[in-house]
Amino acid sequence: MAVPRGTARDGAEAVRAVLRAVGELVVGPLVDLVLPRTCAGCGVPGAVLCRACAAGLAAPRLATPRRFPEGFPPTVAAGAYAGRVRPAVVAFKERGRAELAGPLGTALALAAAAVAAGVPGPGPAGIPAPLLLVPVPGSAAALRSRGRDHVRELAVRAVAELRAAGVPAGSARLLGRTGRVRDSTGLSAAQRRANLAGTFTVRAPVPAGALLVVVDDVVSSGATLTEAAATLGAARTRPGPPVLAAVVAATPRRAPGPGPGPGSGDPPAGCPAPSGSPRRSTVGTGG
Ligand SMILES: [Zn+2]
Repeated sequence: MAVPRGTARDGAEAVRAVLRAVGELVVGPLVDLVLPRTCAGCGVPGAVLCRACAAGLAAPRLATPRRFPEGFPPTVAAGAYAGRVRPAVVAFKERGRAELAGPLGTALALAAAAVAAGVPGPGPAGIPAPLLLVPVPGSAAALRSRGRDHVRELAVRAVAELRAAGVPAGSARLLGRTGRVRDSTGLSAAQRRANLAGTFTVRAPVPAGALLVVVDDVVSSGATLTEAAATLGAARTRPGPPVLAAVVAATPRRAPGPGPGPGSGDPPAGCPAPSGSPRRSTVGTGG
């Protein structure tokens, strides 16, 4: 399923505004003052995510899982979950580098603006309606082990970036989990989908008139976004534009030949591992 064409040019202004924010955020003096001095992508001392590594998250593209699950929502990723992007996302998600919510949230804002720009209709900044970012809820076990909801942190940051770029946006935790899902490690795409079926619930009325954008950190098989979008779409009281999705990064289609596949946990070749032990920023994680 492709993003409808025709108004992408109208949304280009919004996308450019968010792109400018990417650069300003990465090199901003405030960032240098309060954040650890190594790049989470390449380990080079300096910004939390250096300009070169951040460039990997300023290349929005349609996410194309190897096998599109039926009902996979139009999804834009700010970059590929590969190379230097991958250790940066892992550092944020699993190693407690909460300060990466800045650049990664900005990347998510870029992806959200880009996917919304593909929906026809007039609106401020080329976006047809206010964007409502709906974070994919983590499982209870994941939230417990991390001690925080990192996707929600990304959504909040993305909304701030979108608003700063003149795009009307908000976030709402409309989705909850039923708790029925089991660990998806080792499951095929079809098995993941079946595993996820019925796992999301809608916690609050879905507002009419907003452009719904499910947001997550990474898309790989697409099963999670498909289920989340289907749950939201079914809860609408009246028809609207398709439920969209935006992610920080998309797992690239596996290249032919031997090598670590997506989700293997191995760092990509030529990419330095995130430096040292887990870091804790002085910037609060928001719980
Ligand atoms: Zn770097």
